[in-house]
Amino acid sequence: MSPDTGTKQRFAGRTAIITGAGSGIGRATAIQMASEGANIALFDLVNDRTSVVERKLNRMREGCALAVDVDTSDPSRMEDAVRRTVEHFGGVDIVFANAGINGSIGPIEELSIEDWQRTLSVNLTGTFLSLKYTIPHMKKKGKGSIIITSSINGNRRFASFGFSPYSTTKAGQVAFAKMAALELAKFKVRVNVISPGAISTNIDESTEPNEELESIIIPMEFPEGQQPLADGPGKPEDVAKLVCFLASDESSHITGAQIVIDGAESLLT
Ligand code: NAD
Repeated sequence: MSPDTGTKQRFAGRTAIITGAGSGIGRATAIQMASEGANIALFDLVNDRTSVVERKLNRMREGCALAVDVDTSDPSRMEDAVRRTVEHFGGVDIVFANAGINGSIGPIEELSIEDWQRTLSVNLTGTFLSLKYTIPHMKKKGKGSIIITSSINGNRRFASFGFSPYSTTKAGQVAFAKMAALELAKFKVRVNVISPGAISTNIDESTEPNEELESIIIPMEFPEGQQPLADGPGKPEDVAKLVCFLASDESSHITGAQIVIDGAESLLT
């Protein structure tokens, strides 16, 4: 799907760091923001998808994209990646802390400590590090917008059996976003958190079901169509439009908000 270019250039002269920018929601947001004038640092694990996005953005506007190979849960690589971004583009105005994995899924007693810690490291520590190393640059500018991707799971929905590590991180991100919003308000840095329902992305590639998973599933009967507003899962571009609104000056009085974007899915389930 093409970006919604319209006539807006809401991000001209601004730089955004987007984690998990090689795929799904991060990719769609990178394309939309770049089409509205932003320079984008694409933070993701080394993979072909990220360089494809980098090339696509640079074809749209030469030099607007920089792919940075980084594991967001690794403190020294994150610190270095933010430093490289600031050197390259001259600062940071927008941070979309979005990278995440479903991780190991299974009965609690069957999950290893390593399974648990890996999901927490990527989803929760990765979010912490995304803010930790970028906040000083936004404070210096006296302005900034941070958006964190949580989920309806762990917030409105608790029926994804076996997802206890994932849902815990997604609930934790909401508390963290609200703490950060209050802490940063006097520096004019806004922090908001979004909770998507099912969105068509590559997230299932990061799901590692435990062989005991079946033993804890309670069968549920859903009415036809789990997203009453749509005919199926949302599109990454739907989420990108919300993120761009929260990143832009159009949301200048909004901070600490948790916005559900799920086509009414969580009202039904
Ligand atoms: P996706 O798998 O398509 O994209 C996620 C990207 O994050 C991938 O490019 C992956 O390489 C990257 N990534 C994963 N671990 C990383 C790490 N340690 N360091 C750097 N990059 C890393 O999935 P998506 O659906 O676009 O997921 C984006 C966010 O949306 C996640 O936080 C996810 O939990 C959340 N979310 C997704 C859905 C959904 O249905 N797709 C619903 C609710 C919330």
